[in-house]
Amino acid sequence: MIVPFLSLDSIHTSIKKEVLSAIEQVYNANDFILGEKLTAFEEQYAKATGVNYCVGVGNGLDALKIALLALDINKGDEVIIPANTFFATLQAVVLVGAKPILVDVNQKDGLIDIDLLKKSITSKTKAILPVHMYGNVADVLSILKLIKGKEIYLIEDNAQAHLATLKNQFTGSFGHINATSFYPGKNLGALGDGGAITTNSKELADKCKAIRNYGSSEKYYYDVLGENSRLDNLQAAVLSVKLKYLPEWTLERKKIAAIYAKELLGIGDISMFEIENTVGHVYHLFTILTEHRDQLSAFLKEKNIQTIVHYPVPIHLQKSVANLGYKKGDFPVSEKIANSILSLPLFIGLTNKEQMYVVAQIKLFFSVNNLLHA
Ligand SMILES: *Cc1c(COP(=O)(O)O)cnc(C)c1O
Repeated sequence: MIVPFLSLDSIHTSIKKEVLSAIEQVYNANDFILGEKLTAFEEQYAKATGVNYCVGVGNGLDALKIALLALDINKGDEVIIPANTFFATLQAVVLVGAKPILVDVNQKDGLIDIDLLKKSITSKTKAILPVHMYGNVADVLSILKLIKGKEIYLIEDNAQAHLATLKNQFTGSFGHINATSFYPGKNLGALGDGGAITTNSKELADKCKAIRNYGSSEKYYYDVLGENSRLDNLQAAVLSVKLKYLPEWTLERKKIAAIYAKELLGIGDISMFEIENTVGHVYHLFTILTEHRDQLSAFLKEKNIQTIVHYPVPIHLQKSVANLGYKKGDFPVSEKIANSILSLPLFIGLTNKEQMYVVAQIKLFFSVNNLLHA
């Protein structure tokens, strides 16, 4: 049996007709940029996630950058981010010229540590940018309490958490402005790059619409400097089709995750992140933590099971940001996660047989290596 980490075969086969017809409509209309399909998707996504406005952009990194630019965050400003995230979160802050202030995460869930965050707020803090890692929900309610009455913005990085909820409210709707990605492998994925900004503020939405389009709100008038980063109509049309199925797919992810969680409990030295908010997690990834990560991953590979490490090098130790002056040991929890985390196969269409094969091989690894009670 071969079990890939991710396969889009199942969903792309099941919705093929609908997607091809949506693509054909764009093709026939010759309406490719900033057209009807984009507006329709933006309205649908806003409605589906409980916000007033959605602005489609080229990708998740641009969504983060444009959100920061819309808040006028630049040189001299500090933006607090978790040390455990995908590199784009950090890169967006650096690219707009602001200073990223990294904060370690909780051991129990890998999400930004609120006590450490509190200590990192200074007079220069302009925004706090938590990340809903793996589809699990960062404690945005505590962050909102912390910044109440202060001139500090909340920006959610919702790239891994489409339709995740906290107290029945969708992530990506708590912040003043929020960013997400529709990279093909995300829970809601385009057939190429894509991303979006969500907000309840008309002013911020309008600003983002200008920035994504050369800084222009009226054709050929450029009041601010912007970029060229628009979600194109082909991708928007595809995303509109997929969005209809996302609630169903999200339930399937949760079911698969629940089986892993049950089966792997107490196996070897495996630990799993605690999920306080069980209903809200959308399991973009199912991760386990083990001291024997590299051996386990190699063992599974031999058994034709593909796993991935998200992510092997913590963001503060990446070469391109060496000038920030962070060093090994600065964020021990994030570093420990990077050394021990492993993401298991989880995708729509993963069969129970395949999943139980993965589980069996993990159990075999720990019994063969006599680490079962390590
Ligand atoms: C994927 C991702 C991004 C970047 O999205 P792209 O569309 O690939 O640019 C940003 N933040 C997080 C947490 C992500 O997982």
